[in-house]
Amino acid sequence: MRIHAIPVLSDNYVWLIEGDQGQCAVVDPGEAAPVLAEIERRDLTLKAILLTHHHADHCQGVAGLRARFPVPVYGPALEAKTWVTHPLANLETFDLPHIGRFQAWHTPGHTLGHISLISNGAAFVGDTLFSAGCGRLFEGSPEQMLASLDRLSSLPDATMIYCGHEYTADSLRFAHFAEPNNESIIQRIREVNEARAAGLPSVPTSMSLEKQINPFLRIREPSLRAAILKHARSESLSDADAFWTLRCWKDEFDDLPLLPRHAQNH
Ligand SMILES: [Zn+2]
Repeated sequence: MRIHAIPVLSDNYVWLIEGDQGQCAVVDPGEAAPVLAEIERRDLTLKAILLTHHHADHCQGVAGLRARFPVPVYGPALEAKTWVTHPLANLETFDLPHIGRFQAWHTPGHTLGHISLISNGAAFVGDTLFSAGCGRLFEGSPEQMLASLDRLSSLPDATMIYCGHEYTADSLRFAHFAEPNNESIIQRIREVNEARAAGLPSVPTSMSLEKQINPFLRIREPSLRAAILKHARSESLSDADAFWTLRCWKDEFDDLPLLPRHAQNH
């Protein structure tokens, strides 16, 4: 299984999963034309479309792809709109011959039905987890999102994490602000700046790296927890409240007028 990033829209990634015998699947096609071009360039045949959640920037290429390749569409059972032909319940598995076996994990928070797709050392996490960040809570509660992130954290450290957006540089600015003494964050900022300057994606990332740099996976680290408590002017917070404080803190940070504003940073 070889996985390629296809940048679409302003900062989305469609993940092209190339299997054997020229067969492939795509995850979260927010646009059809660049995906069809990449499939053609690699001389592949599309066998399936996988969706993590219902937002248009992850789905609106489905019709265009299916006009050319009338393939099944696997997506969250709780968000099974017209384009999902194979709704996936939590922990449901499915096989794509010559590509791989996938398992759906229900990871609500960004949306209520959001799933992550786990396969052979790879996790396609949509807008649940970003490198050094996490999705905004459009539909779910802090408790749900924290449980989803904890669940993803239970994946083996070597698991590669395929995120839905190129948000890493923005996310790292806040991560560094919240944890100024975290050397791993400083190192990651350097590496991401180099990668982006060379026109390369900053993702996939690995679970082991995220555990070192992602504040939303680190709310139980004593030094970060102390910073969250200080920000909340509180002496103690539940894990869910600490997570929510951190999420709001990042939103405030992103909205500071002296910093570049990134309206689509969700
Ligand atoms: Zn989304």
